[in-house]
Amino acid sequence: MRRPEGFDGNRLRSIVWFHTISRKSDLIEGERPSTMSDIASETVSSAIRELVDANHILFDQGVVDGFGHVSQRHPVRPDHFLLARSMAPALVTAQDVLAFDLDAAPIEAGGPAVYLERFIHSEIYRRRPDVVAIVHSHSPAVVPFSVVSGTRLRPVCHMCGFLGAATPVFEIRDVAGPGSDLLIRDARLGAALAQSLGQGAAVLMRGHGSTVVGSTLRQAVFRAVYTEIGARLQSEAMRLGPVTYLTEDEAVATAKTNDGQIDRAWLLWLKAAHSRSMAT
Ligand code: MN
Repeated sequence: MRRPEGFDGNRLRSIVWFHTISRKSDLIEGERPSTMSDIASETVSSAIRELVDANHILFDQGVVDGFGHVSQRHPVRPDHFLLARSMAPALVTAQDVLAFDLDAAPIEAGGPAVYLERFIHSEIYRRRPDVVAIVHSHSPAVVPFSVVSGTRLRPVCHMCGFLGAATPVFEIRDVAGPGSDLLIRDARLGAALAQSLGQGAAVLMRGHGSTVVGSTLRQAVFRAVYTEIGARLQSEAMRLGPVTYLTEDEAVATAKTNDGQIDRAWLLWLKAAHSRSMAT
């Protein structure tokens, strides 16, 4: 797999070593990682590289713009997760990836500015042990479904079966009152959002965007891309006339089939993203 432009091997090794031990106090001063830690380092290193790729794909596919973020549960420490510092996803490099605990606090104190809405990630990881990756975005075709009553985002085509029967909408006013800035800026709001998500794959956020989860990073990215496509298709279909949606059984069956095909899309999207890469 191609390394990002400006890849600095030494800097990455130091980041990976830090992410692997997770807390400096875990190591006796002067001690170096053992062979087991070396194996863990390689695991973390590839997780970071894949997360960088996910950032670039999500931009290239029109899911995120200057805003939005994608995280992955830490592959060695499941009570931690990996997420870029506060920046546009298209520009993320391995050096920008930080580790956070489930209170959404960066493991390394005194680091760079972090995303305000990191509580989306921490509170979902806390409640959903099956979730390995999360995409939060403001992808535009989805937003109308968060603000109308009587119409829910539902699967209209086989690529969107993971949406299930209907996608829940999180109403932040129920928790934050009528004057919030709509952002998930603390653990209480993150917990309420996670509760709306329930055991599903996606939750819309009224007047804001959506959050999609997966049991792998590639599945979360796949779902985020097809949530946007599905929303566009449903809007177009509704303009034409009454819509026939997938049944719940069709939704389950198509989602299962698609889960075996995710790499096919991922490899295409990765190549497309690399060919237009803006990260340095
Ligand atoms: Mn947001």
